[in-house]
Amino acid sequence: MSARILDGKALAARRRAALATRVAALQFRPGLCVVRVGDDPASGVYVRNKDRAAREAGFSSETLQLPENTTEAELLAVVKRLNGDASVDGILVQLPLPGHIRTEAVLDAIDPAKDVDGFHPVNQGALMLNRPGLVPCTPRGVMLLLEEAGVSPKGARAVVVGRSTIVGRPVSTLLLNADATVTTAHSRTRDLAAECRRAEILVAAVGRAGIIRGDWIAPGATVIDVGINRGADGKLVGDVAYAEALPHAGAITPVPGGVGPMTIACLLENTLEAALARRAG
Ligand code: NDP
Repeated sequence: MSARILDGKALAARRRAALATRVAALQFRPGLCVVRVGDDPASGVYVRNKDRAAREAGFSSETLQLPENTTEAELLAVVKRLNGDASVDGILVQLPLPGHIRTEAVLDAIDPAKDVDGFHPVNQGALMLNRPGLVPCTPRGVMLLLEEAGVSPKGARAVVVGRSTIVGRPVSTLLLNADATVTTAHSRTRDLAAECRRAEILVAAVGRAGIIRGDWIAPGATVIDVGINRGADGKLVGDVAYAEALPHAGAITPVPGGVGPMTIACLLENTLEAALARRAG
């Protein structure tokens, strides 16, 4: 038996279309502002995709491109101005920032109500406490893909490989909040293969091509591959050895076309949520 392929591209397109319908019925246009410092080519593609998707869904979208030598104080002043700009509902500072700027200082300066990336400590804390807040986009996309697969986390054994604040940790917390029994694995985990083999839901967020082997996957498990790696041939591959995994998994996300497209759809959903929450007072 070969695994069912979870088509994140199609799901993201449906969610963006549903958003566009909701936005068209509003009396205002939700506003997203992406701040980019320097010229990291990989993030350039993301920023352009975000901008296009936002406009297509009827949002007003602006990208502030700042020079590489922007100081931390200058960037903080930009964030402060955007916090006070009533036309801006969502602020996203594109990471990574140049080394001379402290990422934490910048993320902490964003108004939590406009923090559509969900990286501010207030939003991360709300997630931890299982209270309403803005949830990081990629983790939110992971949960939507599970829902699409018809997989309920309730009572399930879930293993998340990776514990970054951007992906692994919030995915683990969302799964815990959804009543899964969660193991979070990382670089110090003693026997990663054994941990993975126990998973009914396996989420890989490592950043190493093919680190998760096919025979680490329990029969019928649902596998969500967050990893984006450039293979030796220049093609994008995930953290899961995809061809090996197909005969073992019940359902699996491809790379590309799985989690990646969901991230932008969730960013727009967060922006609409932020816009509605701010207007509701
Ligand atoms: P980080 O580098 O911040 O975190 C990687 C995590 O993997 C760390 O917790 C690390 O452990 C763990 N790890 C590293 N090596 C091993 C190992 N050998 N065995 C077990 N665990 C290991 O990465 P991110 O969380 O930011 O991203 C993870 C992947 O997801 C990347 O490929 C990234 O490109 C992709 N990504 C995709 C997105 C999308 O839209 N689809 C969005 C964001 C990221 P430790 O903490 O011990 O160091």
